[in-house]
Amino acid sequence: MKSHLYHHLSRFFYEEQYPENYTKGMIILRDEELSRDFPVADEIILGQKIPEDLRPIALAYGGHQFGHYTRLGDGRAVLLGEIEKKGILYDIQLKGSGRTAFSRRGDGKGTYSSMVREYIHSHFMNAMGIPSTMSLAVGVTGEEVYRRMAEEGGVLCRIATSHIRIGTFEYAYEAGGIEKVKELADYVRSRYYPDKDYLSLLEEIGRKQARMIAHWMAIGFIHGVMNTDNMSIVGETIDYGPCAYMERYVPSQVFSSIDTFGRYAYDKQGIIGQWNYSRLAIVLLELIEQSGQGNRKDVQQLVDDFIQWFQEDYQDFMAEKIGFHEQKPELVREVLELMEIKELDYTETFVKLMEDRLEDPWVEKWKKEFPDKKLMEKVNPRIIPRNKVVEELLERRDPKEIEEYLRYIKNPYGENIPEKFQKKMTKEELRQYQTFCGT
Ligand code: AMP
Ligand code: MG
Repeated sequence: MKSHLYHHLSRFFYEEQYPENYTKGMIILRDEELSRDFPVADEIILGQKIPEDLRPIALAYGGHQFGHYTRLGDGRAVLLGEIEKKGILYDIQLKGSGRTAFSRRGDGKGTYSSMVREYIHSHFMNAMGIPSTMSLAVGVTGEEVYRRMAEEGGVLCRIATSHIRIGTFEYAYEAGGIEKVKELADYVRSRYYPDKDYLSLLEEIGRKQARMIAHWMAIGFIHGVMNTDNMSIVGETIDYGPCAYMERYVPSQVFSSIDTFGRYAYDKQGIIGQWNYSRLAIVLLELIEQSGQGNRKDVQQLVDDFIQWFQEDYQDFMAEKIGFHEQKPELVREVLELMEIKELDYTETFVKLMEDRLEDPWVEKWKKEFPDKKLMEKVNPRIIPRNKVVEELLERRDPKEIEEYLRYIKNPYGENIPEKFQKKMTKEELRQYQTFCGT
């Protein structure tokens, strides 16, 4: 591991910060395959021994949280450095590693439950081929953390292509002005988008985010907290806080306890993606104009196009789910309507369809268009991290059982999944189910 890339940025963007030394900590989950490519020792993850050449940092950023701008930053995370794999540099970050200059009133800690939750969810996202941060390992810290009650502390080691968010650009703009925006944009271009000018940088980021959100929706994923500080500029899923999977198909589904007005409801994720993207566009506008690479109309056009990109990708993913290589908006609409009316489980309906087990007159109409079952098998998971199963696993705290579950989660198209990993919530349980932020 090296620690140099972010140090190319001026101090305005970070503070040096060592992770807390969890002397009584212990690693309880570790991904062996990832560990081969990213060998990060237990004692580093637990903050017990940080090699001298690493100068860990906490990144500064801002973000619109539920529509309101706030200055944020890594309040409970530190970036250790980067590891290269196949010519790409990945960030290695610890989450739950103690207080930083950006902790505000928080304790800088994570709980066992939320770190394991992120571990499970991010492994599934990767298995589905959706860009996401990766989880290398989870440790228990040997400390109590106080949330709604005393909980076991946890620390997560995660890997990401980038930790730069839309919110990092907002912070540069708001606290530093165009000079800092330029510095950040040049850093982002040189590291992630080497052949792009500022206008095409903006376009690429938008296309990637639109595609990621469309893909989430195709698998029934609700991120739950799409604040601009949780929107990565490489279009990777980041921050598995109050996320959850839809079970029964309810387009307006919300699980997050603090999302009172459903801002981040399942079916609003595309439009919210556009809203977030427009924050980035505003920040980059002046730079684009000054550099002579585009004007306001060009920037406005990109923001308008976002929904188009999202819709196109969504229709592509949904068509594949019902077995077609080209878009079938009508059939997609009909199968979703059918699920909604009959109160069917989203994930299971596609599996039943591909296994000829779905009973409905609509199936005859669908068959007349010759769906490709092989294609369906490649894109429709037979397992998702179901709310009830994940909650039960977190409660039982048995690392062996979690490892067993992960074997299925990492192979979501496989058959013969044990019943205990397929438990659904009842209608009443779903109505009451809540997920939480920052736990
Ligand atoms: P999140 O909802 O996890 O995306 O976090 C939003 C912001 O709150 C980020 O700046 C986090 O670093 C910060 N934050 C979340 N939990 C804590 C905590 N326990 N202590 C300090 N900062 C936190
Ligand atoms: Mg966050």
